[in-house]
Order: sequence, then structure tokens, then C-alpha cells
Amino acid sequence: MKIYKFGGASVKNAEGIKNVARIIGLEQEADILVVVSAIGKTTNALELVVDACFYNKSELNELLVSVKTTHLEIVKELFDPSDVMFINDIENLFLELECILENEQLHEDYDFLYDQIVTYGELISSRILSSYLLKTGLRTQWIDSRNFIITDNRYRDARVQWEETERIIKNRLLPLARKNLIVTQGFMGRGPMGETTTLGREGSDYSAAIFGKCLGAESVTIWKDVPGVLNADPKRFNPTHLLTELTYNDAIELAYYGASVIHPKTIQPLKAAKIPLFVRSFIDTDNPGTRVFEGEHRIQTPCFILKEFQWLLEISSSDFTFIAEDHLRDLFERFSTYKVRVNIMQNSAIRFRCAIDHKEHQHIPLIQELEKAGFVVKAQAGLKLLSVYQPQLQEAREKAQSMGKIILEQQVDSAAHFLIA
Ligand code: ASP
Ligand code: MG
Repeated sequence: MKIYKFGGASVKNAEGIKNVARIIGLEQEADILVVVSAIGKTTNALELVVDACFYNKSELNELLVSVKTTHLEIVKELFDPSDVMFINDIENLFLELECILENEQLHEDYDFLYDQIVTYGELISSRILSSYLLKTGLRTQWIDSRNFIITDNRYRDARVQWEETERIIKNRLLPLARKNLIVTQGFMGRGPMGETTTLGREGSDYSAAIFGKCLGAESVTIWKDVPGVLNADPKRFNPTHLLTELTYNDAIELAYYGASVIHPKTIQPLKAAKIPLFVRSFIDTDNPGTRVFEGEHRIQTPCFILKEFQWLLEISSSDFTFIAEDHLRDLFERFSTYKVRVNIMQNSAIRFRCAIDHKEHQHIPLIQELEKAGFVVKAQAGLKLLSVYQPQLQEAREKAQSMGKIILEQQVDSAAHFLIA
């Protein structure tokens, strides 16, 4: 069995969905499990809906209508009025979403509410896709991934409960998958109270890897709008090169530094089960793309990864004592509690400096809490972090300098990092 994952860009309109159906149609139904993300930029749009809902903003209705309109226009292009059953299924999902928005009992915790709402992007896209596949005559079964991917309750960044997940997938999904083409949602799972959880932004790749590992798939393929894994994002760097082969370890490092082509958690489960990962273009389907597998050799080409919206935190203790082990423990405990990801860090006698991603709901309370705990925190926003994997150092530094003023530079193992103002 093969796992195919299609991201938002591949299903961004009716044309895209037809193309995805064409790619899937090239395989036998019983050989494929499809994981799909929300259509286009729906998750971003639903994030605004969450915000408007949580803070009782007046634009809530307008935002919701816009998400609905985008989807219903696609539905109109794909289905005829006689496909009422399919259309009803999709409209019902919007009704469910509206109930959640109106149910104030669900509005107490931001991250919890977020997970209950944004996942409608995936629920709706997977319904549209599976209905369309059925309509084209493929033996398709839509399944709710929450019945299979079991997580803890760390909302927006839930951790998979592997034992239970693996058991349920083997016992209940494998028999179905052997018979039918399965279509399911990426990005989401079920928490301990039966609530919806998410695996973190762009988490659908990870979902594909979870299904792949638990089903013992022969491969996982991520279909993208780029020819495969490139050594840099072509929207930002020129020229770029396709990396036709990558070891799991290279891929893990690239993803960890923020190469957005693969979600960082995706590779580990595949590596553990020795399942190859293919990254291929859904536009140029003759191109074999990138193969990620267990191998010895490491890539030689320098890879450039740019992360924007970085904050620099400079933390010292208010009594001017050294930043020692106990301080570091207190700091990291709080980073973990607030789910703030530290991208690079440096520690000197009296100052700890780190670059973190901009996440308002997480790090503003973090800074307040650190201050309460007796730290002095200086924060600088609007920075960029350039990470270069397998760098030629001089060239990498020049690249960073061409982007602005370097305010922090660091080399660790096979990578150089530049924080740029
Ligand atoms: N739709 C989710 C997101 O945009 C998950 C994914 O695309 O992987 O973050
Ligand atoms: Mg997406």
C-alpha cells in the first residue's frame, strides 16, 4: 500500500481537485490511502475565524461567509445539482462548524477552540475530494482520521499516542484499506476526552507518515507544487537545485531548520520503519522528484533556509547574577509550557540570547511570566533567520549580509545560522 499526501496547493480549486483525481486514478483503489490538507489557504482563513470567535470580533460572520463561498464555488464546479447527497454532506459540515462557533462553552481556551475550528478545513476538503472520486467511479471510502490518530491534549501541537494509534490503525483501518481507496484528513487527531486536536501547522505530512508507519506502507509520497526537495525556496532564492536523493538524516536536519517542504516530525516514523518518502510535483507528474531513504552519503550542495518573523530575546537575571543551570532550567521549563520553539540560542555569563518564532498568543504571556520569575527580558521583533546546511562559510555569510545586518551568528555541526535585522 502507498500513502499519497496532497497539500492545500494541490486542491486549491476545482481544476486542482480534478488533477489530484487523475493522479490517484493511475493506481489501483486498494493500493492507496490519501491524506489531504485543507483547500488552498483555508487554514489561514480559519485562524482568523478562531480569533474573531474568541475575541468576539464583529467580522466573524464575514470571515466565515468568505470561507464558505470559496468552498461552495468549488463544489458547484465539481458537482451537478443532481449530486445532492454529496452537496448536503459538505453543507452539513458548515452547519456543524457554525454550532461550534455559537457554543460559548467551547470558547474558554484559545488553543482548544483553535483545534475544534481549524480542522473543518481538512474535514471539508476531504469530503469534497472523496465525493468527487466516488463520482468518477473510484471505490472510495472517506474516513475520519480522529478515529485512528490518538493524541494527548497539547492543543495545536498534540503528541501522538503511538501504541494506541498503531493498534487501532492495524485492527480497524488495515482491513478497510485493503479493499478500498481511503481518503482521510491530515493534521488532526483525537484527544483524551474525544475532542479534536491538531498536530501543528503543516502537520498533514506527519499524518501521512503516521498512517504509513502504522499500515506498514511500501512508500509515502508528498505531492507538491515544486519538483521535489530543492536546496532553497525558489520563491526566495535563485537559482535552486533539485536534490534527487536525500538520506533520512539530511531530511530531518533540513526540516528541523525550517525547510518548509517537509514537516519536521515526518521523517522519524518513516526512518524507524524504513519506509521511503517521495516528494514529487503534482504538476509535472513524469518527474520522479526526490527520494528520501536510508543511505550513507550526505548532500554536498549548500541548502538555504530562511525563516521570517523572528524575535530575539535577551534574558538576564534581575539581580545581575550569572545565568547558571538553575536559571536555564527555569527558562526552558517556561519555553516548553508556552510551546515556544527556540531556533538558536547562545549563553554567556550574564545573558541568555535566543531566536524564537513570532507567535503572539504564546510568547507575550511567556515574556510576562519570565519577568514575574525575576528575569529581565529584552525583545526585538521583525528579524530573519537564515540557516545554511552544509555551508561554504564565506558564501553563506555574504548571502546573509546581502539580506541585512547580522546580529547573531552561529555554527553547529553541519549548519551555519545568521540572525538578520
Ligand atoms: N492545513 C494545515 C495547515 O495549513 C495542515 C497542512 O496543510 O499540513 O497548516
Ligand atoms: Mg497547508
